[in-house]
Amino acid sequence: MQYAIVEGQRREAFSGGKGVCPTCAANTIAKCGPRVLHHWAHSRIRNCDPWWENETPWHRQWKNLFPEDSREINHVASDGEVHRADVKTPTGIVLEIQHSSMTDEERISREQFYGNLIWVIDGSRFRDRFDIFHPLPDPSSELAKDLVWYKATRQMQGAANGLFWRRSENPESARELVQIHSIHEIKNDVQLAYRGHHQYDWIRPHRTWLDAKCPVYIDFGSDKLVRMEIYDESNLPCIRLVSRKQFAHDVMTETLASAVGTNFYPIHTHG
Ligand SMILES: [Zn+2]
Repeated sequence: MQYAIVEGQRREAFSGGKGVCPTCAANTIAKCGPRVLHHWAHSRIRNCDPWWENETPWHRQWKNLFPEDSREINHVASDGEVHRADVKTPTGIVLEIQHSSMTDEERISREQFYGNLIWVIDGSRFRDRFDIFHPLPDPSSELAKDLVWYKATRQMQGAANGLFWRRSENPESARELVQIHSIHEIKNDVQLAYRGHHQYDWIRPHRTWLDAKCPVYIDFGSDKLVRMEIYDESNLPCIRLVSRKQFAHDVMTETLASAVGTNFYPIHTHG
C-alpha cells in the first residue's frame, strides 16, 4: 500500500515507520529497503483485501498521475463489503490498475462491486502479441455506414492494410459477389473521419478483457492508451487510441466511466 494512517494522517512509507491500515485498522509497518518500492505492509495478516495486488512501480506511476486524495480509497458496498480502489476520483469513477491476469469470476465481481469502473491493464507482457493496424473512420460517420471491413489479422497482410466492400454497391441479395476495395482509394476521407479507431489483432488474447462490461484500457508504455471497443453492428473488434493526458483529465472531470476518452482532439497541422 502507498498509504497508512500515522498519528491521524495519511502518510507514505518512511524508514522505521509504523501506522495502521486505512481499510482494516490493523498495524502496518513501512518497507523502505534499498531495492523495494517503498510501501506499507500489514505486520501480521498478509493483506486485508483479497483483491489487492502487490504494487509494482507501474502501479505506483499510475496512481501518482492522480491527486493524493484520489489514491487508495475505500469503497463500501451497501452490505458493508469494503475494498480499496486504486484510484477513486471526486466525480465517482474508480480505476483498477491491473498488472496480473484475472479470472472471469474475479473480473465480474469487481465490475459489479464498483459499477462505475475503468480497467487499466499492463500490456507490457503481451505487447509482441498485439498488432495495431490501419485507421478506421469514426463509426458514427456517413462514410463508415457504407463500408464493411475485412477483419485484419497478422497472417492476412491484405486485410491488415485495409480492405472493405461498400453496402451501396452490393444490395443485400448479392453480397457474395462484392467488389473488394483498398483503403488507399479513400485515404483522405478516412483521415477526415478519423477519431482514433484502428483494427487490431491480439494473438492468444486474455479473453476476460474482451468480455469486460466496464471500459478496458491497455497501457503498452506509449503516450497513447489502447481502449478495447466493438466497431459497429458487424461486431468488428477495434481499438481506440486515447492519449494518456486526455485520459487523466477526463477521469477527473467526467462522472461516467463510459464518457472518458470520447471527445476527440484532432492534431491540427498548419501549412
Ligand atoms: Zn488492512
